[in-house]
Amino acid sequence: MAIFDVIESMDMGPDAIVQRWPAVGSGEIKLGSQLVVRENQWAVFFRDGKGYDVFDAGRHTLTTGNVPLLIDFVGKHITDGSPFKTEVYFVNKRPIRDLKWGTAEPIIFRDKDLAMVRLRSFGIFSIRVTDPMFFVNKVVGTEGRLETRDVEGFLRAMIVSRMQDVLGEVLTTVLDLASKYDELGAAMKSRVRDDFGKYGLEITDFYVNAITPPPEVQKVIDERTGMAAVGDLNQYYRFKAARAVEKAAEQTGGGAGEGMGMGVGLGMGMSMAQMMGGAMRTTTEQPCPKCNQPMPTGSNFCPSCGNKIGLPDETLIICPECRADNPAKATFCASCGKELPVSGHCPKCGEAMDEADKFCPECGEKMK
Ligand SMILES: [Zn+2]
Ligand SMILES: [Zn+2]
Ligand SMILES: [Zn+2]
Repeated sequence: MAIFDVIESMDMGPDAIVQRWPAVGSGEIKLGSQLVVRENQWAVFFRDGKGYDVFDAGRHTLTTGNVPLLIDFVGKHITDGSPFKTEVYFVNKRPIRDLKWGTAEPIIFRDKDLAMVRLRSFGIFSIRVTDPMFFVNKVVGTEGRLETRDVEGFLRAMIVSRMQDVLGEVLTTVLDLASKYDELGAAMKSRVRDDFGKYGLEITDFYVNAITPPPEVQKVIDERTGMAAVGDLNQYYRFKAARAVEKAAEQTGGGAGEGMGMGVGLGMGMSMAQMMGGAMRTTTEQPCPKCNQPMPTGSNFCPSCGNKIGLPDETLIICPECRADNPAKATFCASCGKELPVSGHCPKCGEAMDEADKFCPECGEKMK
């Protein structure tokens, strides 16, 4: 094995965080060997999983005086100039920028309005080594990370686990997400700063580029953002009801649809809920689909011809909030504006239920 007279890092790129000397295997040096530490580097002597002496930039001749800890470790006998094995880690002092973090698996967030929401998140961060001995002991020694990409992966896992905590602390509902980005970013940066500090690293930049809920939840957020600065959930639901009614008016040529369309036009200065509640309740009769004779709304059999009414797709949806009847395909309650149950709820009483259930556990309604 060759004994090296000069120890230096070769071609350490600006993005490399640390470089091992020698690149593979182990090197033998002796007292009197030269150590060359370039600008923006530290050098750490390392043996058997532990860092010993640290050198700053410059050309150093090794003596018992400047590698005392290593000499203590390898034994006093080497003072006679006999060779001894060591590794040296050259550590980059410059910031390593634009590292990426992101959730490989979505974070499960407990939303106060929407139950469980699966959130994905990603961003960038920059780091700088502040304590080369700590860094080499913990990240290189304990974790065995040497390549910038490996270090990045190790730090990414820490960031993502913190993201899980911070989301739960800062955010109560994803509906507020847009207004919480700055707070989330700041909370993350301070939490991650402490974590990284334990590895001799400083976080110089941290950005949350995006937190993305699944598309169906994003739609709700976008619609709510469309309400501009309203912020009031009741307003939001009225807005949704008005839009649902507009749609109904467009789709149906006459009857209730026409009345509803008019209601929207007239109702601008009035409470939408009152308008619509009134409109719905005046319809107490409807024609039998078979004989076309008037019959009371909600009848199970036509009083004129005995036709059985209430085929599954004609079932009214009862609003779980205000108990008002709504047309079978309505998505929002025409009376109070609440979003109506589509699936996973009983169409009769609105009770939440398993889609596999054959009967509603609350009212006994038979499911299709
Ligand atoms: Zn009939
Ligand atoms: Zn309602
Ligand atoms: Zn039911």
